[in-house]
Amino acid sequence: MSERPDEEYATPPSALGDPAPGDLWTAVADLSASVVELEVLSRFERDDVEPLAEHAAAAARDLGLVELELRATLVQADLERKRGHVAEAGRRAQDVLRWATENEARHLQARAHFLLAGALQELGDLSLALEHAVRSAELLGDDAPAELRVDHQARLADCLGLNGDMTARDRYEHVLALAEELGDVDRQVLILNNRAYCETICGHYDEALVWITRLQELAARHDVPVRVGRLDTLGRVLMELGRFEEAEAAMLPGLHPEVLEASLDGDGGADFLLTLAELRRLRGHLPAAQETLDECVRRCERYGLTSIRVRARREQAELYAAGERYREAFEEHKLYADELAELQSTERDARARALQAMYETTEARQQSRRYRELSLRDPLTGLYNRRFVDDELPRVLALPAAADGAVTVGLLDLDHFKRINDECSHETGDRVLRTVADLLEDVGLRTGVGEDCGSFVARLGGEEFLLVLVGLSVAAAAAHLDAVRQAVSAHPWDAVTGGLPVTVSIGSASTDGLLAPTPSDMLARADARLYTAKRQGRDRLVSETG
Ligand code: GH3
Ligand code: MG
Ligand code: MG
Repeated sequence: MSERPDEEYATPPSALGDPAPGDLWTAVADLSASVVELEVLSRFERDDVEPLAEHAAAAARDLGLVELELRATLVQADLERKRGHVAEAGRRAQDVLRWATENEARHLQARAHFLLAGALQELGDLSLALEHAVRSAELLGDDAPAELRVDHQARLADCLGLNGDMTARDRYEHVLALAEELGDVDRQVLILNNRAYCETICGHYDEALVWITRLQELAARHDVPVRVGRLDTLGRVLMELGRFEEAEAAMLPGLHPEVLEASLDGDGGADFLLTLAELRRLRGHLPAAQETLDECVRRCERYGLTSIRVRARREQAELYAAGERYREAFEEHKLYADELAELQSTERDARARALQAMYETTEARQQSRRYRELSLRDPLTGLYNRRFVDDELPRVLALPAAADGAVTVGLLDLDHFKRINDECSHETGDRVLRTVADLLEDVGLRTGVGEDCGSFVARLGGEEFLLVLVGLSVAAAAAHLDAVRQAVSAHPWDAVTGGLPVTVSIGSASTDGLLAPTPSDMLARADARLYTAKRQGRDRLVSETG
């Protein structure tokens, strides 16, 4: 089995009254095996899967086995998706995916991607569905049950095929061989059906016929029950190839009430009847066509099938025209066009809403990341603030570069800043602060070491800034800080302050020679040197080197 119960065994639940390790081991192994079985079964419509999945999720929860619990939850979500609650299922899968990614639970990630690919396919976002399908196939381990490998590869083939990618054919070939090797007829039926369907929607009817024929033969060999959906595909393919008589003969078994009612789409075979009506019209059997279409419409009304009902109007218009009843054909076609437009916009809205609902949680997370990012920024200058420094400086000092004596903190304080506020205005003071901030970002961070080395600049408050330089020697850092000082004094301030100079004093401290520098050590040493710089006349740098 791919599941490794030993990992999760590490946190035995106290609720069990500390059973002997052997018992717990058996309980975990049994549960793990039944979750695998549920994953394998969940590909098909079966009534017993739901209660079993619910039971497994509860048992895993009791044992404190989060990963197993979430795997059982995904089985439940997949059933929910099949019942039409696509957005809700997708949202649950997103939540599971988040947990799985954070906890590096690879199999669970693969399963969540698998479900998301299916959900997005149904919601019509085929390119995103394909991305998830690719991940679901990549992440599934080689030691996963062969049935799951078939399922994940088959979904990838479906998504490629629906995206019109012809490499889907090789994948179908490969995955079909896998299913044949397993002797898994249900999965072979599924693969052949989907392959035929993909070829149909790409307009490759000859290709589609090959696969649907293989499917029919396989089904006959293994007594797989006849399904109207399959007969519908077969009939349509033959019809598109102009083989009307064969098409009708192939479809006839679908008219058997038991077969018709057992339609998996829950539409009572309305789709099938619509294809058959069209076929009968094309064969010139107009009364039979009308009768079939009437039956289709009755079923649309009984099951509330808006989309098929609209398509039935188009067929009715065609049927009137075939009977030379042009006026009625025109009226019916007008109805068709109106209802189609309305249906398309409703469907678009519903799809958009469902996609939106699926992503709500993700967006909420991004929102909170944005808020967190904002909380680390100073609103006046956009630089990082003191909170960021408190988080980041300890991290930077622990970087390997710090051990080589290569982290320097420079404290910068504007000289006689009060005067600018007093003699110009507070607004001018603000502009000066913003301009100094820009200079610190432009000149201060251009150290030549590379952007991701960890250097950063922050406003600590008032007119005090902090420049943290990573990867420069003590001497190079001092030279760089002095260049920053000169850049501030050399800036054309006249336009801003009307003649008042703007300069900074800087005190710096480097990690060189210190074994374990703490942030407060470093800042205290820099602050003492800043004080010296002020006392010595301002507009200067005081560092280790003087
Ligand atoms: P020194 O050279 O000794 O540093 O003199 P200074 O005038 O710069 O120092 P002091 O600490 O006396 O004054 C700092 C002034 O900075 C006082 C305060 O009003 C002003 N200040 C602090 N925050 C802001 C701000 O966000 N905007 C503006 N415009 N002024 C600010
Ligand atoms: Mg100050
Ligand atoms: Mg000052």
